[in-house]
Amino acid sequence: MSAETNNASAVTGSCLCGGVAFSAPRFDGPVVACHCTQCRKTSGHFVAATRAKRAYIKFSSDETLTWFRSSPEAERGFCNRCGGNLFWRRIDSDNMSIMAGALDAPTDLHLTRHIYVADKGDYYDIDDGFETFGGSDE
Ligand SMILES: [Zn+2]
Ligand SMILES: [Zn+2]
Repeated sequence: MSAETNNASAVTGSCLCGGVAFSAPRFDGPVVACHCTQCRKTSGHFVAATRAKRAYIKFSSDETLTWFRSSPEAERGFCNRCGGNLFWRRIDSDNMSIMAGALDAPTDLHLTRHIYVADKGDYYDIDDGFETFGGSDE
C-alpha cells in the first residue's frame, strides 16, 4: 500500500437508493464523456465517467448491484432497485469506469473530453470547447 491509497482521502459514491455504495481512494483518469449508442441507451443521455483500479474500489454495500453483459468484451454495473448507472468494465481489465454523477463532491475531477461523438444523439450539440473524438480516445 502506498500513500496514494490512503483511505482518508477516498471519494465516496452511490446510486440513488443507496443499495450500491462504494469508495475509491484515487482515480486514474479525468472525466470522459461517452456518447456511444450503448451509453446513450443505458443512461438516457450520455455518460461521463472516470476510472479506477478495480482492486481499489471498496463497497460498503453491493446489495443491489447487477452486471449486464453489454458486449462480448464488456459489462455494465447498475442498481437493480433504483436503476442507477454506476460502472463499466472490460471483462479482462483491472480497471473500472465509474460514472462521475454517482460520486459525492468534492471529487477533484474535471471533464476533459468527449468520445464517440460520431454516435451522439441528434438533439444536442457539443460546444463546450473540450477535445472531441469520433470514436475511442485510445
Ligand atoms: Zn439504487
Ligand atoms: Zn459509451
